[in-house]
Amino acid sequence: MNRATDGLVAAAAAREADFEGPRAVVPSKHVAIVTCMDSRIDTFRIFGLQSGEAHILRNSGGLVTEDMLRSLVLSQRLLQTREIILMHHTDCGLHRTDEVKLLAQIHGDTGSSPAYNFGVFQNLDVAVLEAIARVRAHPFLPHREHVRGFVYQVECGHLREVLLA
Ligand SMILES: [Zn+2]
Repeated sequence: MNRATDGLVAAAAAREADFEGPRAVVPSKHVAIVTCMDSRIDTFRIFGLQSGEAHILRNSGGLVTEDMLRSLVLSQRLLQTREIILMHHTDCGLHRTDEVKLLAQIHGDTGSSPAYNFGVFQNLDVAVLEAIARVRAHPFLPHREHVRGFVYQVECGHLREVLLA
């Protein structure tokens, strides 16, 4: 069976010749970007980034979970990032999904429920503001003064900043 991953592994091997050379482990722009795993978000292209310039942290929804905070703390304390971008997006799988129904389906399939929430949200801008608030309230992060939230519009490529009212 020819799996998609076989093609990806072959592509990686073919691209080794184009490797740009090693980069420093500390991101040169000292920025961490938190965003969704959505396959339409090309974070490097959106921000004009190159390898070695920023940390890019992703999960479903781009949510500021405990594990995301763990990564941000390490990003700042060990690897010298100083600013944070939180980027949600339109047409997200977590937006307006029915979490109760999803959990019931999982329980029906397996007889048990996960210990985590999926973090479904109803309002995109509110979700971004909540993400900013969670970062700003996390005492283990030494640099919380430069935190900005955005919505990336996957339909047209527009990046919109979400500002506090
Ligand atoms: Zn998403």
